[in-house]
Amino acid sequence: MNRNHDRLHRDEQDLRSVGMTELQTIYSDMGLTSDELDLLSVPRHSFTVSFPVKMTTGRTQIFTGFRVQYNDARGPAKGGIRFHPEMSAEHASELALLMALKCAVVNIPFGGAKGGVVVNPMDISRRDLELVTRGYIRAIADYIGPFKDIPAPDVYTDEQIMAWILDEYERIRREHVPAVVTGKPPELGGVLVRRYSTALGGVHVLEQALRERNMDFGGLRVAIQGFGNVGENAARILHERGCLVIALSDVNGGILDPKGLDIPAVMEHQKSTGSVVKFPGARELSNAELLMTDCDVLVPAALSNQLDANNARAVKAQFILELANAPTTAAADEILFERDVLLIPDILANAGGVVASYFEWSQNLSNDRWSEEKTLSRLQEIMISAYNDVGGRCRETRCRMRKAAYELALKRILHAEKLRGNL
Ligand code: NAD
Repeated sequence: MNRNHDRLHRDEQDLRSVGMTELQTIYSDMGLTSDELDLLSVPRHSFTVSFPVKMTTGRTQIFTGFRVQYNDARGPAKGGIRFHPEMSAEHASELALLMALKCAVVNIPFGGAKGGVVVNPMDISRRDLELVTRGYIRAIADYIGPFKDIPAPDVYTDEQIMAWILDEYERIRREHVPAVVTGKPPELGGVLVRRYSTALGGVHVLEQALRERNMDFGGLRVAIQGFGNVGENAARILHERGCLVIALSDVNGGILDPKGLDIPAVMEHQKSTGSVVKFPGARELSNAELLMTDCDVLVPAALSNQLDANNARAVKAQFILELANAPTTAAADEILFERDVLLIPDILANAGGVVASYFEWSQNLSNDRWSEEKTLSRLQEIMISAYNDVGGRCRETRCRMRKAAYELALKRILHAEKLRGNL
C-alpha cells in the first residue's frame, strides 16, 4: 500500500468541505426550488452494517461498514470502497454525492455511491484483510449488484480487493456476475486502461481546451505536482505527445529542467530511488515553487488545497488541469478566473477513471471484450464531449468552469428525477 495514502485521506477530508461549500453556493445561485433542494439534500439509501470476522489470530472482531447510494436517478449507483480508520457514514454520503455529480458531468448512466469499512489495513495481515472484505460484502450483498450499485477501488483498496469482492458476491449469488464491481484485475474482466484512464481523460480535455485556442501539445511547458498513479501517467502521456514536462514533484520535493525532463528516465530513477528528487541534471525545487513555475500548464495531481488566496496570483500557467481532487480553494478559483487562467476542474478533469469503469461494466454485462482501440477512442469521445458541454455552459453563463460543471451535473440529475415523476 502507498505510504502517501494517509495524506490522501486527509486530502479527501478537505475535498468534502470544499465540494460541499461550493455546492451550497451553486444551489442558491441556480435558484433551485425547495422541492429540488430537499431531493438533493439526503441520500436515497444509507446503510451501516456491523459484521463479525473470525480473524487469523483466532479472535472474533466486529467491524463497522457503510454504503451510501446518494442518487440513482440516472442509473445504478457507482462509487468506490474505502478502508480507513476514520471512515464514517457522513463522509461516505458527501463523497457519494460528488460521485453522482461526476458521473452526470461526463454523462455516463450512473448515479453516485461510496462506502467503506472502519479499518486500518496497515494494522492487519493481508489474509485478515481478505476476511474483512468478504465479511463486508456478505453484509451488503443485498444492496449491491450490477443494476443497483457497483463498487470500485478507492483509498486503501486495490485490484486484489475487487477480486475478493467479486468472488464473495458470486459465491452468495451462486452465479457469475462480473459487472457487480469494477477495477478488477484484467484476468477477471477488468480493463487495462483503467490503470491510466484518469490521467488520459485529463489529457483529452486539456487537448480540447488547446484546440479551441488554436494551440497544440508541441513544445507546451508543463509542471506536474505529484508523481503517483495519476501524476506519473500524466507526465508519461504528455511527454509522449510532445509536451515539455519541465517540472515534477512528489512528497519529497521537486525537480526542474526548463529544457524538458526525460520522463522515461525520471520513471526509472523514481523506481530505483523511490523519489523523483536528485534526478541527474535537474535543478531542485520545492513543492511551493513548483506551483509558481514559469510554464504553460500546471497539473496538480497530489493533494487538495494547494492553490489558495496566498499563491494564486503568483501562478504563471495559462492552464490548470486539476487531476487531484479539490487542489484549488474557492478563493483561488475566483482569483484565477479574474486573471483569465483557464482552470479545468477536478469533477471533469479527473473523471476518466469512472468512464473506464463504465466501459468495464458494459463489457462485463455483454460478456464482451473491446479492442484497445475502441476503448481508447470511446474514452476520448466521452471526455471531449463532456468538455464541450461544460465549455458551452461557461460561454452561455460567463462563469467559471467549475461552476458550469456543477450546474450541468445538477441539471442532468434533476431532469432525470423530473422524468421519473419525482419532481
Ligand atoms: P498516489 O498515492 O498514487 O500518488 C500521490 C502522489 O502525490 C505521490 O507522488 C506523492 O509523493 C505525492 N505527494 C504527496 N504529498 C505531496 C506533497 N505534499 N507535495 C507534492 N506531492 C505530494 O495517488 P493518485 O492515485 O495518483 O491520486 C492523486 C490525486 O488524484 C488525489 O487527489 C486523488 O484523490 C486524485 N484522483 C485519483 C484518481 C485515480 O484514478 N487514482 C481518480 C480521481 C482523482
